[in-house]
Amino acid sequence: MFGLMQDQPLLIASIIRYAARHHGATEVVSRLPDTSIHRTTYAEIERRARRLARALQRLGVKDGDRVATLAWNSFRHLELYYAVSGMGAICHTVNPRLSTEDIAYILNHAQDCLLFADSSFVALLDAVAPQLTGGLRGIVMLCTAAEMPQLAVAPGISLLCYETLMAGADEDFAWPVFDERTASSLCYTSGTTGRPKGVLFSHRSTVLHAYAVNSAAVFGLRPGDRMLPVVPMFHVNAWGTPYTAPAAGAALIMPGRHLDGASLTTLMNAERVTVSAGVPTVWLGLLQHLRTSGERLATVRRLIIGGSTCPPALIEAFEKEYGIAVEHAWGMTETSPLGTFNTPRDIPGEDEAAALRRKSKQGHTIFGLDIRITDDMGAELPWDGKASGNLQIRGLWVCSAYYGDPPGSASDAEGWFTTGDVASVSPDGNMEITDRSKDVIKSGGEWISSILLENIAVSHPDVAEAAVVAADHPRWAERPVLIVVPKPERAIDPASVLARFVGQVPKYWMPDAVITLSELPHTATGKVSKLTLRQRFRRYLLDSQAGAPRQDA
Ligand code: ADP
Repeated sequence: MFGLMQDQPLLIASIIRYAARHHGATEVVSRLPDTSIHRTTYAEIERRARRLARALQRLGVKDGDRVATLAWNSFRHLELYYAVSGMGAICHTVNPRLSTEDIAYILNHAQDCLLFADSSFVALLDAVAPQLTGGLRGIVMLCTAAEMPQLAVAPGISLLCYETLMAGADEDFAWPVFDERTASSLCYTSGTTGRPKGVLFSHRSTVLHAYAVNSAAVFGLRPGDRMLPVVPMFHVNAWGTPYTAPAAGAALIMPGRHLDGASLTTLMNAERVTVSAGVPTVWLGLLQHLRTSGERLATVRRLIIGGSTCPPALIEAFEKEYGIAVEHAWGMTETSPLGTFNTPRDIPGEDEAAALRRKSKQGHTIFGLDIRITDDMGAELPWDGKASGNLQIRGLWVCSAYYGDPPGSASDAEGWFTTGDVASVSPDGNMEITDRSKDVIKSGGEWISSILLENIAVSHPDVAEAAVVAADHPRWAERPVLIVVPKPERAIDPASVLARFVGQVPKYWMPDAVITLSELPHTATGKVSKLTLRQRFRRYLLDSQAGAPRQDA
């Protein structure tokens, strides 16, 4: 017997319709390229998204068509999110930080029919255009007619202006109702190994993810919150914030491309931001700015951090010096992206060091998902906080196949998706990533966690950023080498950095070399590029005198 409750498909347009009707005056604030501030509301965003859907219809966009965006976080990008998905087409966010080859590959692979781009990407578009192999009918610049840039486009591709298109369309559009499993958006993983792969989200997975992320155990947004997603809308849908904030009636503060510590501080204070989300590199930049400028964040209560490991020193600094909670999340494009979340909690009798250690882990599995860890033969490993193995995940918003691949081909028969991360899980379910499977250091048959070593290194007062990679070694196969970036005005003494490890890790984990660089290479999603560092320092110990800590320029 079926229950007798109403049955409505889970559709993305319902989020903006809800926000417009029930939180219509709630603000969406955007910092524009010239740093001026643009203000609008959810009611206006919904109205303009309907207008945009009409404009897209006039441009021939049909159900299932891919519409690409190359844009920073702004109100226009938000309108695109809702208009494109809401009308039944697929919003394909492209990461402008990728190489031009990867961008061209992604646009060709997805066969996008239109590309909406910020004017700041004109040079990038010029470089990508010759590599496009067809399918693209138009490039729409996200600006007014007066702001239209010069851009040479290939024959057959028209160059259009967003606001001119909007002015020429009407708002007489009703959000259609269709199967909730319909594809809504497409995001390619940044492809640190091999070609980027497309993760194709559905309306159902997106709405369920938004519900779950808005629960009190996760982001728990609510009316009155003012969320500033530093994480870009081209990086796994800004971790779902363009959906979770309107669904909660929380305001969205869009920073555009101004993501340095000083710009963020100004925007956060001027716009009374209460919560923000971004990768560790961004929060390190913010922390450095606050420390050097002496400024404070007047209204921010929580910083959500994910995308790579959160150094415990960062949690400690924000909590102790600024009274701001740092909440650690783990996920990946293939998991929409949120998989686990470290919800703040009080544990009676827990000392400060144990609390910091607990908060530094990646957290508990969000309801709607399940995780497990396995050995290389596929056998499940215990949750004892010690055994570490391949992290697998399955659930309501986990990818089953990459775009263009056969259904189900990304997971096993039981639906488990192998993440490529190595993790341990404590008896109470707190998951800790110990490495990417490709970053783990295999020394004399033992595994050494590069992440744990990095966390110890950044707890040194002179170290701003650290990365540990495997270098070839004639006896042990691989040995860890530590690459450090000093804090401004500081110099690094390798012996003093190495002294930090004594007593904290087994002796054989001690890095064989300490190398100082002025900055670390980062990937398109803001993570330290271990691949670049591994390639650069692979032969370091063979070429230098193994065992002797050294300093490079
Ligand atoms: P890409 O893999 O292309 O960089 P994603 O953003 O999908 O793009 O990255 C997912 C990966 O990022 C995860 O598999 C994991 O290795 C890493 N990651 C994400 N969040 C965390 C975290 N909190 N701690 C450690 N690693 C993380």
